[in-house]
Amino acid sequence: MNYRRLFSSIAMLLCLSLSIMAKAPKYVFYFIGDGMGLNQVVATQYYLRSCQGELGITPLGFAQFPYTGIATSYSGSSDVTDSAAGGTALATGHKTYNGAIGVDVDGRAVTSIAELAHRSGAKVGIATSVTINHATPASFYAHQPSRNDYYEIGTQLAASGFEFFAGGDFAEKVNSSDPSAPHLYNITREAGYAIARGYDEYEALSADADKVLLIQKADMVEEALPYAIDAREGDLTLTQVTTAAIAHLYDKRHKEGFFLMVEGGKIDYACHANDAATALREVVDFDRAIGVAYDFYLQHPKETLIIITADHETGGMTLGNGSYALNFKALQSQQVSQPGFSRIVNRMRHESRDAVTWEQMKEALKANFGFWDTIPLSERDEQALRSEYERSFQGDRNVKMAESLYYRDEPIAALAVRILNRIAMVSWPVGSHTAAYVPIFAVGNGAEHFCGQMDNTDIPKRIAEVAGYGAIDN
Ligand SMILES: [Zn+2]
Repeated sequence: MNYRRLFSSIAMLLCLSLSIMAKAPKYVFYFIGDGMGLNQVVATQYYLRSCQGELGITPLGFAQFPYTGIATSYSGSSDVTDSAAGGTALATGHKTYNGAIGVDVDGRAVTSIAELAHRSGAKVGIATSVTINHATPASFYAHQPSRNDYYEIGTQLAASGFEFFAGGDFAEKVNSSDPSAPHLYNITREAGYAIARGYDEYEALSADADKVLLIQKADMVEEALPYAIDAREGDLTLTQVTTAAIAHLYDKRHKEGFFLMVEGGKIDYACHANDAATALREVVDFDRAIGVAYDFYLQHPKETLIIITADHETGGMTLGNGSYALNFKALQSQQVSQPGFSRIVNRMRHESRDAVTWEQMKEALKANFGFWDTIPLSERDEQALRSEYERSFQGDRNVKMAESLYYRDEPIAALAVRILNRIAMVSWPVGSHTAAYVPIFAVGNGAEHFCGQMDNTDIPKRIAEVAGYGAIDN
């Protein structure tokens, strides 16, 4: 008798019967880092280590999940996807044309995994750090030919019946093509949602509010949540959003459990602007939010599945500049995002009635980028900043703003960021998306199905199968 063979057949039988008996995960977390390619993840790990003055990486929490894979992200109309087609692929398992939300290449509405989960009885939450009707979250509840139909997408949020939504705010709360149409807040309230402005208001909501929309407090500078690097005490954070979502969706008596999608939406914004320090702090912040889900997993290990991925890479972020070295520690000196510094410069303009001196500008650059202090500047860089200052403050009144996809910034803010990135040895070939592989990390019940190479459309199909939501339509 070959004992080894006997044992291995017994082990195989055991495995097989265990997997047949294995129950589907009851709680599914789907985290999408918008624009978070492989390099955004590993760059953050180099950055964290370099802050300790050492070579190598300090692993992020989610990067230590036991199962990893890579996915292609091309869309139905281009090898380089936008966030609408990328979101639709991750939500519905269908390739579509760039710009489309929840419809296929022929414009036919396709079911999302969130809708499938809801139909099968699970509670559903959709959360983001950008606007709640932006492309990625919209792909999970809306069906529109164009991502720019913000108002219509907002009305579909209200009609979804999903139990929880969170984000900065709605983009386009009033219908620009029909001013008499109701405000999106009213439509949302009428559909039975309690709207909480800020985490305090959310906590004060009565326990019987069965559907919730959590947004940030009024009078914010933009409709998205602030960048992590710019966040102030009292600002709504992605971590709070995730905590609130779990508190609202979790009910141990509800046997169908919940499905929660959380988007780290501003990694992409920062990469469009080629602002590495801001992007890496967004990834750290995203990891913190995932940590909340991981703690939940530790309490419900057999019933929970967590998947982390991205819709595409942004910026073609390159770790190195030809000199066989990195100097990511330099990024630690940056205290605000590019638009954050732009606002500081703008305030200086107003306060001095456009009479900002070079000395004042130097002080601001020193305080926010560490220039001349922790970051020595070459004569050439100093000269470049000085020339930009002269153009912006002593030249003609029509300053040409630095444009990236989501922001129009003061040119000196963009130049300071560019110089710091060069000093840190981060290179950015483009200010747009790329077709690079995106990573997948998974932990929990069913996580082993997310190993190896796959297409982005495989991810929701596998989640649907593993979680027992039923097959995604074709
Ligand atoms: Zn983008």
